[in-house]
Amino acid sequence: MAKVRTDIAIIGGGLSGLVLALSLHRHGIKSTIYESRSRLDFAGGYIGLGPNALRVIHHLGLYNAVLEDAYTYEKLELMTSAGSVIGSFWTGSRVQGFPSIRVRRSKLRDVLLSAISKNRTEIVYGKELQKLSEVNDVVELVFGDGTVVTSSLVIGADGLRSTVRKAIAPETQPKEQLDQEALDFSIPSMILGPEGSFTVIPVDPPGNRLGFITTLQLPDRPMEEWQALWKDKDSLKAIMEGSFGKESWPKIVGALCRETVDDEVLAWPIFVLPDLARRTSASRKVILIGDAAHGMSPACGQGGAMGLEDGETLAWVLAHDSTSQKLLPRWAAHRQQRKIKEWVIWGLIWYHGEAGMSAWVSNYDGEKEMAALSMQ
Ligand SMILES: Cc1cc2nc3c(=O)[nH]c(=O)nc-3n(C[C@H](O)[C@H](O)[C@H](O)COP(=O)(O)OP(=O)(O)OC[C@H]3O[C@@H](n4cnc5c(N)ncnc54)[C@H](O)[C@@H]3O)c2cc1C
Repeated sequence: MAKVRTDIAIIGGGLSGLVLALSLHRHGIKSTIYESRSRLDFAGGYIGLGPNALRVIHHLGLYNAVLEDAYTYEKLELMTSAGSVIGSFWTGSRVQGFPSIRVRRSKLRDVLLSAISKNRTEIVYGKELQKLSEVNDVVELVFGDGTVVTSSLVIGADGLRSTVRKAIAPETQPKEQLDQEALDFSIPSMILGPEGSFTVIPVDPPGNRLGFITTLQLPDRPMEEWQALWKDKDSLKAIMEGSFGKESWPKIVGALCRETVDDEVLAWPIFVLPDLARRTSASRKVILIGDAAHGMSPACGQGGAMGLEDGETLAWVLAHDSTSQKLLPRWAAHRQQRKIKEWVIWGLIWYHGEAGMSAWVSNYDGEKEMAALSMQ
């Protein structure tokens, strides 16, 4: 009987960390999550999840709960801003087991947290990791409040600006992605025009409430000025309307920019993480998952999904490779190859037609992949 680890510390209680803890619990492995923020301090907005992410949620037994408040769709229509249809592509289909959904991040988080509390996994809030070092056989974690915790295995699920990553790949830092590229049209759709792309996807189950996502390139400015702008909803709306309120765009696009209620207008800077040289420390006692390992362009709509896949597959590996010698290095190489790049998605769509991105992205089943990996 393999020895089961009992003191796994997960740094970060975002999507990746929560899914990892739930997946470990499925394998009978206990873990503790250390999260820097408070229980209530989480940003809102919506997230789109495709079949590969929903398969993970399904394996955790949480699919129906997440689906309750979600808008379900299978394809996006690609349109020009002048209104003509360029084509369409499948974002996920029931043929692949699951459709795509758009759901409030708070809903997804509530479902994951409620499952976490049922299985008694501990989440310690207000614990900001400041320093991590490997001392003899353990990893020592120093938190902002002065407490020190030791653990035999630490998983960094602490996002794009990961502190854990500094112990594994200090040379890799997120970089700003500078080179980002009337209801008479189909919904959901992505509209392309000279000013950029504007994706319209409903956000409630019947599809009555419209949401949108757009990327805009603005002159760089100090972080305090960015933060002031994100809070200034009137200015954000004016900037969007300046680009998308023009006559060359469908009327609904300008209306969405103007009339969306302030609380729902959210802005994020876009950073991407260059490829990591390694995912684990030399001793394999410290491991990275989620955005900490592969922060990617939101244009892929796959960052969260990759974190979910990471969590499920790493839990499988830790349950089947107690010494982290055999499977863990294979897992790290496998997940590195799986990192989805924006150009891969667009390439698959262009070269393989509307179902193109489906197989490689959507059909991924972490449990089957790991079983195959262990046979190699
Ligand atoms: C605009 C935008 C749209 C997106 N849309 C989609 C989409 O439609 N579909 C999709 O799949 N993905 C999408 N993504 C990507 C997705 O949101 C991320 O990939 C995902 O949230 C990453 O989850 P994570 O748990 O790895 O990291 P995070 O969500 O960043 O969580 C990290 C957690 O660690 C905590 N933490 C950080 N530092 C420390 C520390 N030192 N000590 C303790 N705790 C710490 C943080 O407080 C946080 O709770 C989008 C991203 C953006 C920016």
